[in-house]
Amino acid sequence: MLLPVSNLTRTETRRRAEQLTLHALTVELDLRAARDAAVATFPTTTTLRLSSTSTTTWLDFLGPRVHAVVVDGQEQVVRVADGRVAVDGLRTDGESTVVVRGEAAYSRTGEGMHRFVDPVDGETYLYTQYEPADARRVFACTEQPDLKAPSTFVVTAPAEWQVLSNSVAESVVDGEDGSRTWTFAPTPPLSTYITAVVAGPYHHAEGHWSRALADGGTLEVPLGLWCRASLAPYLDAEEFLEVTRQGLDLFHDAFDYPYPWGKYDQVLVPEYNLGAMENPGLVTFTEKYLFRSQATEAQREGRATTILHEMAHMWFGDLATMRWWDDLWLKESFADYMGTYATATATRFTGAWTSFALRRKAWAYRQDQLPTTHPVVADIPDLEAAKQNFDGITYAKGASVLKQLVAFVGPEAFLAGARTYFRRHEYGSTTLPDLLAALEEASGRDLSAWSGQWLETTGPSTLTAELETADGTLTALRVRQDDDGGVLRDHRLVVGCYSSDDDGALVRTHRFVTDVTGPVTELPEAAGIPVPELVLVNDDDLTYAKVRLDERSTATALRAAGTIEESLSRAVLWSALWNATRDGLLPAAAFLDAVVSQLPAEREVGIARDLLAHAAGAVEHYLPVPQRDGARALLAEEAYTQLGRHEAGSGLQLVWARAFADAAARAPEAAGRVRTVLAGDVPGLQLDPELRWSLWQALTAVGAAGPDQLDGELAREDTATTRLEHRAALVGRPDAAVKAEAWASLGLPAPGQYAVLGESPLSNDEVDAVIAGLTQPLHADLLEGYVEPYFALLPQLWAGRSIEIAERLVEGLYPAWVDGQEGQVEDHPVVARTRRWLGEHEDAPAGLRRCLLEQLDDLERVLRARSTAARPAGARGGHV
Ligand SMILES: [Zn+2]
Repeated sequence: MLLPVSNLTRTETRRRAEQLTLHALTVELDLRAARDAAVATFPTTTTLRLSSTSTTTWLDFLGPRVHAVVVDGQEQVVRVADGRVAVDGLRTDGESTVVVRGEAAYSRTGEGMHRFVDPVDGETYLYTQYEPADARRVFACTEQPDLKAPSTFVVTAPAEWQVLSNSVAESVVDGEDGSRTWTFAPTPPLSTYITAVVAGPYHHAEGHWSRALADGGTLEVPLGLWCRASLAPYLDAEEFLEVTRQGLDLFHDAFDYPYPWGKYDQVLVPEYNLGAMENPGLVTFTEKYLFRSQATEAQREGRATTILHEMAHMWFGDLATMRWWDDLWLKESFADYMGTYATATATRFTGAWTSFALRRKAWAYRQDQLPTTHPVVADIPDLEAAKQNFDGITYAKGASVLKQLVAFVGPEAFLAGARTYFRRHEYGSTTLPDLLAALEEASGRDLSAWSGQWLETTGPSTLTAELETADGTLTALRVRQDDDGGVLRDHRLVVGCYSSDDDGALVRTHRFVTDVTGPVTELPEAAGIPVPELVLVNDDDLTYAKVRLDERSTATALRAAGTIEESLSRAVLWSALWNATRDGLLPAAAFLDAVVSQLPAEREVGIARDLLAHAAGAVEHYLPVPQRDGARALLAEEAYTQLGRHEAGSGLQLVWARAFADAAARAPEAAGRVRTVLAGDVPGLQLDPELRWSLWQALTAVGAAGPDQLDGELAREDTATTRLEHRAALVGRPDAAVKAEAWASLGLPAPGQYAVLGESPLSNDEVDAVIAGLTQPLHADLLEGYVEPYFALLPQLWAGRSIEIAERLVEGLYPAWVDGQEGQVEDHPVVARTRRWLGEHEDAPAGLRRCLLEQLDDLERVLRARSTAARPAGARGGHV
């Protein structure tokens, strides 16, 4: 089989790991010319000391040039193909030294060595991002997680810059040309994907954390928090570092293994493709966590959870690392679980499990019902598959499954297992059995059945409460488990029974802890209690399952879900209603009515934010098309009303304001309200740049603002972020010529033109801004001509763009905006066209097919739900 240029398979990396032992890696990067935009590349030199059982191997390198390959002093003929540099003449009776000298390219896609120029001050910033396999865009290496080496980075850069890596700089030497060379201390053994370099005139704040050690010594950890110089005024270092210290305290005790990486730097970097990356001692974060505009407590909680997720990786992932990407979940599920646990336990954000229940799990439930879902322990044959596995299964489902495991074995046994695992596998590589062995020792339980049920199967369980009653008394209560795909799992969970108090609020009157096994589980202890108004399976959110409500409970929830005191229970209940909406069991209109009637009283900012997002999703996707325009207007009007009713300056007011701006982009009749808000006529509402831009984008989307006004807004504050907003707003005008220009800016040939993909100068963030503006829901009519070009271009898009950009284009431009006729699913034009494409392209790369299959499934799901909702109520079942 001919592999795509940069792919690597599990089979060949396994073979290489058997042949090679790495003793030391040294990487020298010459970044002196980085500030010159005309210079596209930088010199890179790798020196590897290794032992080999074969005379030949290869190193991975995706750079424009390799100048030299030297083995034990002997220069070899340079042979490079498919991102691999051939290496011959290795000793099989001792150590060899391999040197590769070449040129690597600066990146604009966030992959490899990303280069960014700040429009505010013209300064240049660099950072690296490698996972899963982009270290080879920066230096020649063995790009697989199980080949770990003590690594030394040597970086030459402008003398006035700050340069950081995983370890501290051992020496800093000034050159005669205004440069400086930083030589960093050799690291403990590291996988390539977690090595990192950050360079530029970064601003920083310092902190410190220390703890007494068992041997009487003290562990001293210097803390650094870094951002671009122009963002220094917004860096709220105090809270960031406080959460950092709280996390280090908690993990130090919980893991009983001293923080292993010396110092702890955290850097907020521009145009970042992900939330954060756990490079040991040098964690990189998206700048979205540097709040330039107002931030709600929910946003701060989300940031804390990410800080602690990455910190958990310092042990889980960095110290003990998965052997290959099949076991990516080993680190991600753990970090996701521990990040939320630590946030709820050690910081002021004690409601972190509520956000997990409503927001994080929605990601898992969606992903787990796609045709492309996979077991938590996945089969990952190559790197392209690995790249796509950073998904809702690996993170959110895996973490949910661990939460269920903790409910079974108890938190102490769970942490004891983790401690054993770290000690046993420090600086090594691991697979699932290594973790299970440690957990079994600690808990005294056989976990093979648990692993089989939860890690090696797909799809969420579906659990339904069934009640039998007589004369106002519950005579039987049971939990039914659907035989989804033939998998019945064991669940330890809580069933909550609720009834109204004198004020009409739902109060939990009974809480039953039970082990659900098999298709039907009786709860005999519930017999004899008064019939509750609401029975909530998985109250407290211990297990991972779609929860169905009985008919009476559904009616109660739609009327009064928001009156429950405990936020976690509210989140579980709303999650059940949302899943029922997505499954076409609850009409979107009923969900929407419940949100609109109950959300104004919601006190948790995170729940309000997530439910407003679900409500917008219900309107845009799940509601029958004839009802949509009215619902759009209603949602915008309701949000406007509420932002005036909530406490001035509060997070809730801000959440409603953002929801208003979002809804107004699809509700032309709200334009006057938007102008009122923009004019500052809402008491206490602070019009920060983020909010102002979303209001301007709403106006432009409905044709109520033009380029002059957008330019004027940009002139108020001209930064990298506001330029992106300005770009999205400009592209978001309802104008065919604007759409054509935007399409062309992505390097895509115009409809009807010879279909050859062009270049695009846009960065990753700029691509996102263009897609957002281009695909405004109100502009579907203007986009009809792009459906065919989209399908025609798919193979070229996938081959001609880096995977990061290709995925954004394939998913972002998917023409789900075509409404079709009411009740149409199979014959919907885009469904039919996608199916035809898939049929004609069975040999297309698996990653591309996966993207298309997921878009198709989402579209079919909403079409099914719409056609169910359009049927008369009597034709639908009662259970949701
Ligand atoms: Zn992670």
